[in-house]
Amino acid sequence: MFTKGFNRMRQLRLMICLCLFLLSFRPLDSASAQKPEPFDLILKGGTIIDGTGQPGFTGDIAIKNDRIVQISPEIKGTADQTIQCSGLMITPGFIDLHNHSDRQIVSPLTRANMNFITQGCTTIVTGNCGSGPVDTGEYYRQIDVSGSGTNVMHLIPQGSLRDHVMGSGQRKPTPEELNKMKQLAEKAMQDGAWGMSTGLIYVPSSYAETDELIELARVVSRHQGIYASHIRNESTELLAAVNEALKIGQEAKLPVHISHFKSTGQDAWGLVIRAARMIDEARKQGQIVTADQYPYIASSTSLGATLIPAWARAGGDKELIQRLDAPETSQKIISYIKNSIEKRNGGKAIRIARYAPRPDWVGKNLQQIADAEQKSVLDIVLEITRQEGASVVNFGMNEDDVRQIMQIDWVATASDGRAYLPGSDRPHPRNYGTFPRKLGYYAIQEKVIPLEHAVRSASGLPADILGLTDRG
Ligand SMILES: [Zn+2]
Repeated sequence: MFTKGFNRMRQLRLMICLCLFLLSFRPLDSASAQKPEPFDLILKGGTIIDGTGQPGFTGDIAIKNDRIVQISPEIKGTADQTIQCSGLMITPGFIDLHNHSDRQIVSPLTRANMNFITQGCTTIVTGNCGSGPVDTGEYYRQIDVSGSGTNVMHLIPQGSLRDHVMGSGQRKPTPEELNKMKQLAEKAMQDGAWGMSTGLIYVPSSYAETDELIELARVVSRHQGIYASHIRNESTELLAAVNEALKIGQEAKLPVHISHFKSTGQDAWGLVIRAARMIDEARKQGQIVTADQYPYIASSTSLGATLIPAWARAGGDKELIQRLDAPETSQKIISYIKNSIEKRNGGKAIRIARYAPRPDWVGKNLQQIADAEQKSVLDIVLEITRQEGASVVNFGMNEDDVRQIMQIDWVATASDGRAYLPGSDRPHPRNYGTFPRKLGYYAIQEKVIPLEHAVRSASGLPADILGLTDRG
């Protein structure tokens, strides 16, 4: 495909630059396409991979007023600027279905979203894992005050919505509270949300039972939104968690999207393949179900969500520490944490990504830290928990699972990352490398998937999932 013998990284970098130009694929009909006219830009002689999954072809692309106006083997017209693209690949701008830049995209420092622009992303979806701004209209207005480096699409974050209406306690909503949540969901959909997300391992999203979620999903369904879920369990209870998501889709009659589809923890390896077969069955029955994946064997979240049970985290950090101090709950929490550490290779599988009180711990695993401090891993975990908590990277997945899942034609690429500025953190590399890794490593180098499949998983497929017709 690359005839000029550029080295691979250079190919990838140039390709990513070019894909930003491709905002949409809407060629004019052939009669008007033949009429010569000055274009703003012509991309000449590139290998065009259009995001549909069809084989790439060599051709020219003309752009005027930020729109693609012509695609053909040879464009004769003139343009203000022409870029020679032979030996390069041209793709649509990528859509990151699963992004957590809700705060960063309205911050002056990070609104440019450079670490996604450089990955070829032109659109991100926020409000994921049940967390983000509840007032969608206000959020869009804030973004528009100074603009953002990428397009932004928002999902109603069910956890934040629940917190807003009824706090973070572990209880059922009263009928009035449920009504209030439905009204706010209705308003968010009217204001331009594209669906609703849940984060069913996080407080307080996790306190919602299936029936409550169905009620809210019905509101989203009336506006043709999707239900995107960080499901209740991504480990040994994965199948039950996928079933819950499928049930919500069936009852509320809306498309289901499983976020960062995986099974994590050695005792759960392979389960994600069984879950994929279950989803295939549901799809055969006519249900709309899709998923996304970041192409890594490590995940990343808070240390608390990784090692401490949800019931102990109810109500926030202050209440967690009270429960750690109370004789009736302390032992129960500690034995759960010990067991969690055991399952993660005695703490070796968990690396600190961010922890302000001890910058020297960042980048090290829990066992290394415990050795250096001459303490137990449990002591380190409790110390961090009693301070302010930490972000961690958790090496819990199986490479074969990751490779098999990315071959499925209903699995999109998504980062689960956010806009970053280089700093003292050691964040998960998915923040900078999700899309290049899928294309450069898994498609071009390892040949796990065809390049056309990799491009589709980052452009045409997420556009179909969202119902997006005119952006990339
Ligand atoms: Zn998540």
